[in-house]
Amino acid sequence: MFFVVKLKASLIISVLLISVIVVPYPIVKTLAKEDEYNKTVYFTFDDGPSVVTIELLDLLKEYDVKATFFVIGATTERGHMLYKRIVDEGHTIGLHSYTHNLSQIYKSSSNYMNDLKKLDDLVFEITNVRSKICRFPGGSAVTNSSQKVKSEIAVKLKNEDYIYYDWNVSGNDDSKTPRGSSDIANRIKKSSAKVKGNDIVILLHDNTVRTTLVKAVEELILYFREKGCSFDKITEETKPIQFLKS
Ligand SMILES: [Zn+2]
Repeated sequence: MFFVVKLKASLIISVLLISVIVVPYPIVKTLAKEDEYNKTVYFTFDDGPSVVTIELLDLLKEYDVKATFFVIGATTERGHMLYKRIVDEGHTIGLHSYTHNLSQIYKSSSNYMNDLKKLDDLVFEITNVRSKICRFPGGSAVTNSSQKVKSEIAVKLKNEDYIYYDWNVSGNDDSKTPRGSSDIANRIKKSSAKVKGNDIVILLHDNTVRTTLVKAVEELILYFREKGCSFDKITEETKPIQFLKS
């Protein structure tokens, strides 16, 4: 009898010891996984406001995610209301281009700056925000402009305290045929896994024909959240990714 009790006791001790050794393992594994993806995700939406902006803003509000909108010149009341909503809901309003007419704005650096200033003044008039955050239409590696003109633009921007921001992940959602939401989301997931630094800056388009945008963004919010990433908007303190060195 005494032998049986002793056997039972040693069995209990063995089980306890095994638990102590085995239990911490998944915790360590989880920490390593989170560490690997401990990145900040910046959603940036070019070319808005559009017909999908309201739905997009509603989604961002629902998930409490802040983002950056590189807007174009809005000429309607609805567009102005959306400028205001972007600002009122805590997102960053960035300057893209008033006309987004690439063949005109890239003809000379003064054309570019005149177009940008027109947008700057409009955004200020509507929102009372003087944005210094901008993005070259097509990105600073755009081929619609000569290297000389682009370099001049970069110098002028710097002299007037504008900061231009490119990206390191693209949804390639500006193709002629609109892509499905899963297609866009999968491209971004794949490409973001290759980002070396801590910041994942995603280019997407808030554009009338991009009706799949909102669904793609929701899928991505859930994906990055699951990976332990946080979300943020671009501010003047954000270190810019720039294809064209200023
Ligand atoms: Zn654009």
